[in-house]
Amino acid sequence: MLDQGTGLLVDGAWVKGPDRLPVADKYTGDVIAEPHVPGPDQVDAAIASAARSVGRLPCARRALVLRRAARLLDEWRDPILAQYVAETGFTPADAATELDRTLLVFELCAQEALRLTGETVPVQAAPGHEDSLCLTLRTPVGVVAAVTPFNAPLSTVAHKLAPALAAGNAVVLKPAEQTPLGAITLVWALVEAGLPDGLVQLLPGSGGTVGEQVVRHPAVRYITFTGSTAVGRHIRAVSGLARTHLELGANSPTLLWRDADLDHALPLIVRAGYRKAGQVCTSVQRLLVHEAIIEEVTGRLADLVASVPYGDPRAPGNQVGPLIGAAAAARAEQLVADAVGHGSRLLTGGSRSGSVIAPALLSGLSERARLASEEAFAPLVAIAAVGGLDEAVCLADATRYGLQAGVFCQDLDVALAFARRVATGGVVVNDTSSCHPDPMPYGGVKDSGQGVEGPAYAVRDMSDSRTVLIRHRPPRSA
Ligand code: NDP
Repeated sequence: MLDQGTGLLVDGAWVKGPDRLPVADKYTGDVIAEPHVPGPDQVDAAIASAARSVGRLPCARRALVLRRAARLLDEWRDPILAQYVAETGFTPADAATELDRTLLVFELCAQEALRLTGETVPVQAAPGHEDSLCLTLRTPVGVVAAVTPFNAPLSTVAHKLAPALAAGNAVVLKPAEQTPLGAITLVWALVEAGLPDGLVQLLPGSGGTVGEQVVRHPAVRYITFTGSTAVGRHIRAVSGLARTHLELGANSPTLLWRDADLDHALPLIVRAGYRKAGQVCTSVQRLLVHEAIIEEVTGRLADLVASVPYGDPRAPGNQVGPLIGAAAAARAEQLVADAVGHGSRLLTGGSRSGSVIAPALLSGLSERARLASEEAFAPLVAIAAVGGLDEAVCLADATRYGLQAGVFCQDLDVALAFARRVATGGVVVNDTSSCHPDPMPYGGVKDSGQGVEGPAYAVRDMSDSRTVLIRHRPPRSA
């Protein structure tokens, strides 16, 4: 196992707290770690320490520390992957993908730290400023609170920690209660890589207590949150003037147009609908299929989904493990029953054993079914037929969410028309809603959030612009 101290880092020291947080293996149920949870005084001390530490690290050192931390994480790869599989219930392949993404995010943020700069402003346009010089500097925002969800304990945490540090901020990190170990490992690596005391504070614990205290704290200037829409809305309401960046829930559509290359599309849809047991915000939940190809798609996809191996995430070949807990699995079962009650056909899967749900595919999704509007966060994909582009756009938009959409289509005119019209943060052409290369700007609209992630965009957003105006008068003799 990885050395992770107490899991609670306050003012540069791994300390004990009044409580412990048991973290279970999501398949076996065994308790695998018990990081310490801070009391309210320790939360205050952590935020005060962060406030004292803002701006302490020069840009070049930020890049160096991020790069060293990435190297350490790579060296610790095997124990990190084993721990990740245990705390999430995801497969080793999902773990490896997420660790690789984390290393890339650290590297991209290191690069951003080195080129973070302002601009010169042409103030000479204003009378009397013919000889003035105006420029902007990028300065840290201050204390950044990062609150993260259970489903990406490495890469989502990296997308918050690394840009915040690259921009010169100090971070107070509250990871998800169910999966805090990935965050502890990332912070451990940063500390070992030479991050000065105080620049990261790590506070495992519950959202309702530790998280609530952090996001309400007046010294917190910026909150970067990924999680459910309900909690995001609450954070926005209680966080005063702190700037908020919110990555929230979704019910993502992917469109298969009549000319789609199905040999290319169908395996990608299976991967994007069921990896991490569907607990991915951009997971394909609704598959909109042109009626000209609906029979072929339904038949071929049902065969593919029925052959997806699932169960124990450590069993070689298994692609789908358990959901995060029994309650999530029971809810998934209800969503399937509700869809069937509204006239859908269950083509394959849907049965439950403990926290494991057999990958499920439904056809004939009714707009009245909960699956059509709610976020499933489970290995469920529902097919709905569309007759044309208007109907496809209308159905794609028929939820309160708007994170990312996919469209498989060889006719670029149709693909671009879909991309222009659908109300979503991103559109992926010839891949699914779940395609997300880390450098790209990424974020939702409507109830899926506000602001964009992606190293270059996040580093900029996590810094302020300070204007410097220099009044210059040429020497009289000139
Ligand atoms: P939650 O919203 O339940 O929790 C997210 C984080 O918020 C956790 O750390 C949680 O703590 C914390 N939290 C809960 N209540 C509060 C509070 N009052 N104040 C401060 N923090 C609080 O989300 P899940 O962990 O269940 O993650 C799943 C959700 O995340 C899905 O809706 C999914 O779509 C979304 N998500 C969105 C992504 C995107 O990019 N848009 C990416 C990944 C996930 P605790 O763990 O203790 O409850």
